[in-house]
Amino acid sequence: MASAQVALVRCETYDSDAVNAAVERGLDLLGGAQRFVRADERILLKPNLLVASAPEASVTTHPAVFSAAAHHLRKAGANLVYGDSPGFGRGEGAAKRGGLQAVAQEMSIPFADFAEGSIVSFPEGALIKQFTIANGVLEADGLVSLSKLKSHGLTRMTGAVKNQFGCIPGMLKGEFHARMPDIDRFSQMLVDLNRLLVPRLYIMDGIVAMEGNGPRNGDPRPMNVILFSDDPVALDATVCRMMNLDPELVGTVTYGQQFGLGTYTDIEIVGDSLKSFVADDFAVNRSTGSTTGGSGRASRIMNRLVTPKPVISKELCTACGTCVKVCPVDPKAVDWATPEGAKAKLAPVHDYDRCIRCYCCQELCPESAIKVETPLLGRLIHRERRAAE
Ligand code: SF4
Ligand code: SF4
Repeated sequence: MASAQVALVRCETYDSDAVNAAVERGLDLLGGAQRFVRADERILLKPNLLVASAPEASVTTHPAVFSAAAHHLRKAGANLVYGDSPGFGRGEGAAKRGGLQAVAQEMSIPFADFAEGSIVSFPEGALIKQFTIANGVLEADGLVSLSKLKSHGLTRMTGAVKNQFGCIPGMLKGEFHARMPDIDRFSQMLVDLNRLLVPRLYIMDGIVAMEGNGPRNGDPRPMNVILFSDDPVALDATVCRMMNLDPELVGTVTYGQQFGLGTYTDIEIVGDSLKSFVADDFAVNRSTGSTTGGSGRASRIMNRLVTPKPVISKELCTACGTCVKVCPVDPKAVDWATPEGAKAKLAPVHDYDRCIRCYCCQELCPESAIKVETPLLGRLIHRERRAAE
């Protein structure tokens, strides 16, 4: 695999002029916007629109980054559309709340069809030979991925590779969690998805990132950077290094290199120095154990004893039911415990034997009421491993 370039550009504000200049610089460092799009091509911008959330919560790609990328790609001649399929609800609603819809309307960028999808066969897939992809993605000539720098309960970090999961429409995403409950297979699936879609360019909004209980309920953390690359593995590995997280702990990075999607061992950083962005205390899961087990009996026992589990805070829960709706397991691994005929609903409860640790409930809880907690045995094993290193 040839050396990959990752451009790092310092940007400490979402002021539109500053972001515009930073995005122009990042594109120039990689050879200019015209390297990635040609005149009159239909280019899909794929931001992270995980849920309907205000820009300052740092859940979604900031509208200033979306606007700047759109501006420079349009200047290079691209016909732009945009879209994403969130984990819950409609993409248009998330775009509205996140401030992207207003930018898109002002720039006359239509929302692509992410409600319906078509089956695409992918015989080259290492694990997955067939995907259902949103029609809006398939109708585009090319894809530009606009991800957000965040921690993640399941995959430790979410960035360039994981962003394309939103190209799978609606609740079909949950099926992948149910079919591949272990993190290795889930990561391999994401790598195959990127090998199929082959975005032309990856831009990541890391001006204000998210740490801790991500990707939805973590804390905003200024990292003051926008990243650019045509190699998603190199880009995510660079983010890992900024987070003081070993890239080899991230399945999308290691399988990404193994399956030929990119490289994490041969990267040329251009622009500002990587060292200037490293945050040693970035709150992310650095434990050397797996974040999740599998579906067999032994795995279930290990899951219960060792693997971090989602825990609901009864104080914070408003009984909205989102976690019950999004849980991909049948029967549900988080469900109502409210007695028949009760006037008010109580917080749902988890069945940890059934739970596959996909963390969709934690990811999508609108009240930050679900935390991922590591059981005592898991904490002890982690401590032993650290001591032995
Ligand atoms: S999603 Fe969160 S707030 Fe809603 S019912 Fe579940 S735990 Fe409670
Ligand atoms: S309870 Fe939560 S973590 Fe467990 S399978 Fe359901 S959605 Fe995934």
